[in-house]
Amino acid sequence: MNTQDRVLIAGAGPVGMVAAASLVRQGVPVTVLEANAELSNESRASTFHPPTLDMLDRLGAARPLIAQGLIAPQFQYRNRREGLFAQFDFATIADATTHPFRLQCEQSRLTRILLAQLQNEADFEIVFSSTVRGVTQSADGVSVSLERDGRTESEAARFLIGADGARSETRASLGIDFEGFTWPERFLVVSTPFDFHSVIKDLVHVNYVADPQRWNFFLQTPAAWRIMFPIGADESDELALSREFAQSLMATLVPGIDRYEITHTTLYRVHQRVAATFRKGRAFLIGDAAHINNPLGGMGMNGGIHDAINLTDRLAAVWHGAKPESELDRFDKQRRLVTKEYVEKQSIQNKKNLESTGTEFRDRLKEIAASPERTREYLLATAMISSLKRAQELG
Ligand SMILES: Cc1cc2nc3c(=O)[nH]c(=O)nc-3n(C[C@H](O)[C@H](O)[C@H](O)COP(=O)(O)OP(=O)(O)OC[C@H]3O[C@@H](n4cnc5c(N)ncnc54)[C@H](O)[C@@H]3O)c2cc1C
Repeated sequence: MNTQDRVLIAGAGPVGMVAAASLVRQGVPVTVLEANAELSNESRASTFHPPTLDMLDRLGAARPLIAQGLIAPQFQYRNRREGLFAQFDFATIADATTHPFRLQCEQSRLTRILLAQLQNEADFEIVFSSTVRGVTQSADGVSVSLERDGRTESEAARFLIGADGARSETRASLGIDFEGFTWPERFLVVSTPFDFHSVIKDLVHVNYVADPQRWNFFLQTPAAWRIMFPIGADESDELALSREFAQSLMATLVPGIDRYEITHTTLYRVHQRVAATFRKGRAFLIGDAAHINNPLGGMGMNGGIHDAINLTDRLAAVWHGAKPESELDRFDKQRRLVTKEYVEKQSIQNKKNLESTGTEFRDRLKEIAASPERTREYLLATAMISSLKRAQELG
């Protein structure tokens, strides 16, 4: 491979790996630079939305991912007093997707599937233990400085995609602001192998529980149930991470059960931020490097994969001379706007809904669930299909 004649991707998370797969499938050579010595095993995103599965299908990755995950055709809203008050079924939008369900599967399974598929492709290279530190650009190329085995090295390419996560060094080096705010509360994720289906008979794989003090959501993954709770600004990290505290939160879930086997707890600080631009010359930002949001609605990784496909389809057309470079401005215009209008707004609204007092949210959802037209509109929005349609309409 001519080292200049390729696209560099910083970061081998789910978004960087999807970008790499999409470019390689379209005949564009790629080198992925990953700071860690191997793919991450961290337990983070576990929900893939229908249009994301449609996109992964194009890359040949949906089928093996589905084989490793749980198909979730429905999701539920509950509250502590009444239990279930609204259930939605993706069958209602089966004409708008070839995957009318959410897939519950850890993001680390996707990166491994993609790496296994790409490994022997001539146009694909991945270099681990290579941390991107700085970016410089000229009219026809990008140069990246790297830290590798304690040495500083550099790599050159025609384009650079920064998929290096929320603390993106690509974004910092390009001098792009990350505008937004940090929530005062943190989120605690507790994992347990306990079989909730045995005690809550009508439970599905994805369930949100509204409560003004301690809302939560329970998600089932192939390996465990994950329950997420908000942790108030007045509760210390030390308290939040103690096993007894996790047990006390878990004890609020099912009357009569006050001890659980807890396999894992993780405490997250949660932000809502969008980069001031997703493109600077020949460098682009996608995924968490470009935007971060709270995990309610499962839109962070999904939105990042939508960025990756939007950008790489344009980049491949430019690479092969089918479109002029101005085509790449569309990526920033479309994805930045829908990130602000949909992903950020909706994830903030999802949090407000779950923690709201009174019955307004419950009553509104019941009304939506009772109306086929409103259910359809609601599902198209929560499945992120409306945001993709809006991006297309922007031209
Ligand atoms: C508890 C939790 C639950 C979530 N649930 C969902 C969900 O259900 N659905 C959803 O859509 N989203 C969810 N998210 C969000 C989701 O995890 C992120 O949006 C997703 O990981 C973003 O992927 P990414 O590839 O952009 O970044 P990352 O996954 O952060 O990957 C970035 C990669 O870049 C590497 N890197 C970092 N710096 C450098 C550097 N300088 N040079 C080279 N490499 C570098 C890192 O090592 C890493 O491998 C959740 C998040 C949390 C915390």
